[in-house]
Amino acid sequence: MEEVRVRFPPSPTGYLHIGGARTALFNWLFARRHHGKLILRIEDTDEERSTRESIDGIIDGLQWLGLDWDEGPYFQTEYSADHIEAANRLLDSGHAYACFCTKEELERKREEAVRANRRESGYDGTCRHLNAEDTREKQAQGLPFVIRFKVPERQGTLFYDDEVLGRIERAYTEIEDFVIVRSNGKPLYLLCNVVDDIRDRISHIIRGQDHMTNTTRQVLLYEALGVKLPVFAHMPLTLDLQKRKISKRSHGEVVSVQFYRDQGFLPWAVCNFLCLLGWNPGTDQEIFSREELIETFSLSRMSRVNSVFNYKPGDPKFFTDPKLIAINEHYLRTMDLDELGELVRRELEVEDLWDPAYAGGRRAWYLATLDMIRDRFHTLKDFTTIGRAYFADTYAVDPKPLAKNLLKYPDLKTWLPQLAERFSSLEEFDAAKTESVCRQLADELQIKPGVLINAMRTVLTGQLAGPSIFDIITTLGRDRVTTRLRHIDHLFEAT
Ligand code: GLU
Repeated sequence: MEEVRVRFPPSPTGYLHIGGARTALFNWLFARRHHGKLILRIEDTDEERSTRESIDGIIDGLQWLGLDWDEGPYFQTEYSADHIEAANRLLDSGHAYACFCTKEELERKREEAVRANRRESGYDGTCRHLNAEDTREKQAQGLPFVIRFKVPERQGTLFYDDEVLGRIERAYTEIEDFVIVRSNGKPLYLLCNVVDDIRDRISHIIRGQDHMTNTTRQVLLYEALGVKLPVFAHMPLTLDLQKRKISKRSHGEVVSVQFYRDQGFLPWAVCNFLCLLGWNPGTDQEIFSREELIETFSLSRMSRVNSVFNYKPGDPKFFTDPKLIAINEHYLRTMDLDELGELVRRELEVEDLWDPAYAGGRRAWYLATLDMIRDRFHTLKDFTTIGRAYFADTYAVDPKPLAKNLLKYPDLKTWLPQLAERFSSLEEFDAAKTESVCRQLADELQIKPGVLINAMRTVLTGQLAGPSIFDIITTLGRDRVTTRLRHIDHLFEAT
């Protein structure tokens, strides 16, 4: 294979959404798989809608995901001379012509065609047949004009071989002479995109099926510019459960990459999930390391049918696709502890809960605690929310276990401080000893040990569920445990 050069060319008119991130990921994987190059090109020719903020957001998003590029960012606006030069070349070679038809005229003709029920509602080719002299005359009069591509008058179909979808054909007669330069002299995206891909020596164009209507016309541009076609691979679209294309307008923040960073997702978990939206390895495997995915990825296993982003608005359990949550949990539970320690450190710092000793004398405690609590967590945020009681003495108590495990037994107001007394006088404060003390007291009080255990869990962690209570007790340590068990009056008073 010749050198693989792929590109990610976002239009900076919004944040990086997961559809765009998936395109970037597939291109990145393809480049890495074939030891090729990924080029980042910012297609900023729509000056009204392009913003600096969006460019920064896209770059930040790619960096956060770990999708690095080899060239760029190039900015399309910096190459307008190339775009104009190409348009002129097409004019000179007879592949394009000036069209003086006004908007009103075109509109009128379109309406007539619709009224007459004629199928062809595209451009009727009026100016295609102007001779050079007429054209010069109109230009001399200063009449505004656009430049249209002259679709060859051929029988049969135009085709290209798509790496995902196979041969794509379209009858020449169905393609109207399309505009490549506006009346204000600005080349259209369709042309700029091809000119830039040629200059950047792009070998493979991997993009969404929503660009296929452009592709047929772009194939004609390649031919007219005398350049060999790159390989096209059109990826399936990503739809929601109602089969609508995902977009910020209809889905909100949940489709932006930023959202996942802010919600405490792990970047590779997001990539792993995105790659399964429209690609599969041909086996049941769903978890892939970076290296594995680079090794396994191929365009031929890309799905032809649209993929579904399984998100149910309004359902907190499905605040995003459950598969993404499950993949994130998997990485959270299995990743290297030191690495996790760094990520949680950032979360703790933001909440002002970071203790420098966690990097020094209490390092072992810190990592062991993360290891113990991560089993039930979904995102990095959980370490400072549901896991807050391990790092702070102020934390909220979930009303559900509060009612069920504490308020239901008012005698706990004296039982828990009693337990604290016994814990204080233990010689060794470990799981076995604290458990036997707890069972002994329950026996004496003639209550089920579960009453004390559930109450302790509620008081010590604020949560309904979690790791084994005696592991929690030893992790928190005697001082914290006894203090918390003694100071419970406020919990009974609050209601
Ligand atoms: N700028 C286009 C977009 O953001 C990309 C087109 C392409 O991949 O060729 O949709």
